[in-house]
Amino acid sequence: MTTRLAAGMREQMIKHAYACHPEESCGLLAGPSDGDVQLVFPTTNILRSSTNYTIDPREHLSAIREADAAEMEIIGVFHSHPHTVGYPSVTDVSLAPDPTWVYLVVGMENYESPSVRGFRIRDGEITEEVLEFEESIT
Ligand SMILES: [Zn+2]
Repeated sequence: MTTRLAAGMREQMIKHAYACHPEESCGLLAGPSDGDVQLVFPTTNILRSSTNYTIDPREHLSAIREADAAEMEIIGVFHSHPHTVGYPSVTDVSLAPDPTWVYLVVGMENYESPSVRGFRIRDGEITEEVLEFEESIT
């Protein structure tokens, strides 16, 4: 499958990853249920860990409310790997909360040029998602 995002969202997620480094950054993605990402919510990683993340539950709630007000839903999550490749870890797979979500991972194994990759995680199976970053999405 393909998920479309605005080009600026890639920068937004990478900026958040740098701001949280060496801890993992995290955040939520919202859009219409058919899949394009329209809103990015950078959130606080309450674990303050370099190998794991938990989104601040209050920020999670306010992201749901904001998405709701825009007639959207939470359709995915992003987080960073401060020292490793942008591929879901065993923990990411075991904690993946929703089979309909897209999981974006910012890989910072090359600190100077982080990568952003997307995945679907269903029943423990990882499938890579095609990400299209566009100048404008409708
Ligand atoms: Zn991870």
